[in-house]
Amino acid sequence: MRSPDSPLLEVAGLSKTFVSRGLFRASRPIVAVEDVSFTVDRGEAVALVGESGSGKSTVARILLRLERPDAGSILLDKEDILALEPRRASLSYRRRVQMVFQDPFGSLNSTHDVAHHLVRPLLRHRRAAKEDVYGRAIDLLRTVGLEPAEEFISRRPYELSGGQRQRVAIARALAVDPDLLIADEPTSMLDVSIRMDILTLLTRLKTERRLAMLLITHDLASARYLADRVLVLFRGRIVEGGPADELVESPAHPYTRALLASIADVGELGTEPQQVEGEVEKELPEAPDVGCPFAPRCSDAMDVCWEMDPSYRSLGPRRVRCHLYREKPEE
Ligand code: SF4
Repeated sequence: MRSPDSPLLEVAGLSKTFVSRGLFRASRPIVAVEDVSFTVDRGEAVALVGESGSGKSTVARILLRLERPDAGSILLDKEDILALEPRRASLSYRRRVQMVFQDPFGSLNSTHDVAHHLVRPLLRHRRAAKEDVYGRAIDLLRTVGLEPAEEFISRRPYELSGGQRQRVAIARALAVDPDLLIADEPTSMLDVSIRMDILTLLTRLKTERRLAMLLITHDLASARYLADRVLVLFRGRIVEGGPADELVESPAHPYTRALLASIADVGELGTEPQQVEGEVEKELPEAPDVGCPFAPRCSDAMDVCWEMDPSYRSLGPRRVRCHLYREKPEE
């Protein structure tokens, strides 16, 4: 039985390894996600932050049931999502967990008008009766700030700007009254000038609807703006997590510091991060067999870092996986 105080989403021990195959080289395993655990409460936004190849998108794909993890559990309101039979999961779970994609140009079908994109989920998931569906669609457009809604509802996606399309995509996600919204780089393809508008809209929805959000991003500025908590991923594992403001203002893990140093000003939305020196691409260079995976790039590396993988330590409300804090063991 769910307690009102229990987290909406509980992810524990999630792991996923892919096998990389090439014509001229032997197959090798690539660890995409390793022992990732976190929770998201109702009305809370959590950001998974990392560069390309950090594993954040694989976590999102697993949560959307597009990938099956090798290990771990996902509970939504204490219900074991991985144990659901596929059809039930696809109908009920997909209503409760909605996605906003990175590309507002590819996520809407240009052959259909805005009304189609909103009416379809409303009817399919029985969120409105036929006679009420138009009015509900109008309300949704107002909710996401597309006014006059009566004009926008008959437009086709190619008649909208990128920001307007992303608002329609958000309205479509809201149509089914989700509990959790997964937003995958929702502003990265938009003009810098309208990124703040979309993040402000998401922040308002989070508060007004007590909507839980999981923001997938490479952008610490967006994460800080929208998220209550930030989890930093490196090589598929969470290396630091904690309250967004605190983590950005005083990063503890050397990788978080490197991410922050790669952008000019984390208070400034839309500042594109530089690639962290020597940092990850889709196919990662070999990690050391033992020790900390970040050691080859870490200017703080000590002898112990090459010999022993660090475990999590508690720093107040934060958790960090680094030997620099080994004298403060997790309670
Ligand atoms: Fe750097 Fe050592 Fe911390 Fe790894 S454990 S991030 S190598 S200081």
